[in-house]
Amino acid sequence: MSRVHNFNAGPASLPLSALELARDELVDFEGTGMSILEHSHRGKDYDRVHNEAIGLVRELMGVPSDYHVLFLQGGASQQFAVVPMNLLPPGKSADYVLTGGWSEKAYAEAQLVGRARVAATTGIEENGSTLYRRIPKQGELQLDPEAAYVHMTSNNTLFGTQWHWLPETKAPLVADMSSDIMWKPVDVSKFALIYAGAQKNIGPSGLVLLIARPDVVANGRRDIPKIFRYATHAKENSLYNTPPTFSIYLVRNVLRWVKEHGGLAGMEKRNRDKGALLYGAIDEKPDFFRAPVEKESRSFMNVVFRLPSVELEERFVAEAKKAGLVGLKGHRSTGGIRASTYNAVGLESVQALVSFMREFARKA
Ligand SMILES: *Cc1c(COP(=O)(O)O)cnc(C)c1O
Repeated sequence: MSRVHNFNAGPASLPLSALELARDELVDFEGTGMSILEHSHRGKDYDRVHNEAIGLVRELMGVPSDYHVLFLQGGASQQFAVVPMNLLPPGKSADYVLTGGWSEKAYAEAQLVGRARVAATTGIEENGSTLYRRIPKQGELQLDPEAAYVHMTSNNTLFGTQWHWLPETKAPLVADMSSDIMWKPVDVSKFALIYAGAQKNIGPSGLVLLIARPDVVANGRRDIPKIFRYATHAKENSLYNTPPTFSIYLVRNVLRWVKEHGGLAGMEKRNRDKGALLYGAIDEKPDFFRAPVEKESRSFMNVVFRLPSVELEERFVAEAKKAGLVGLKGHRSTGGIRASTYNAVGLESVQALVSFMREFARKA
């Protein structure tokens, strides 16, 4: 078996032990004579998996006991629409803080559902596209105290920026944490709602983890299809209809690994060590590697940098791939290099990348 150093932005690297457990149990789950894929979602064997996954989310994130923890389908993009469908009643408006491409998309969907406004944006126009290089300061947020909610994107996967402070808001705070969920401990009680596509930090694509304060669920709109109401899924413990059982099973495996590696405090240490090493390598050669992101806004999940020319960037990506370092090409809208260093990416992968970078810069 050979495994590469995987810097993919999403779907992304998963802990080897989570995959190996899935492989070992694939055709016969815990002596039941069938795969977990073949088990009924109403049976007690799947039920154990389902509740273990939910229990691990609660334990690892310290979710307040009255909050709901839900597994939903359709990816984070579906939540861009379903959040306002539930939380944005007629006559109210929602505040959006724009810090990247995903928050733009969330805002656009909210505008189709109801009234939404931009409370702040750090976007700058350059060559016909909007670029983001920093997270705003509290003083830049023009919040509507009457807003139905304030929406933020905790980590900006494309541009490599990340919030390192929490905004003070009167309105309930909603966060898209798709690309940094569980990267470190957070105070869940500060949020009314958190959602995250699983495919960056905790599992496979298609699955969404959603954590919601009870009043947000209870007061959700009733004039929307039942399948989109959070209350429907909360009432049925995410078993209203057939959930993506195998994806939830894989999340369980990943969260077991997180727990074995020191929980979220362990993840934070791991991620800060990787970040220090990689940003250190970028900063030690500022005339060769250029980090476009403001220092205080740097992401520990997606590290973006440029090389002196597009030709060098292309060569960098191609030669890195030959050396077993994959997924380093920047997003199609930004270009450059992006190394995604999610929880499952080990320090040894970042060490290999940093050695490659130093060698590449020396030879260039
Ligand atoms: C990847 C990503 C999304 C989109 O997730 P899908 O599951 O593809 O819909 C949304 N928000 C952020 C911050 C992301 O990183």
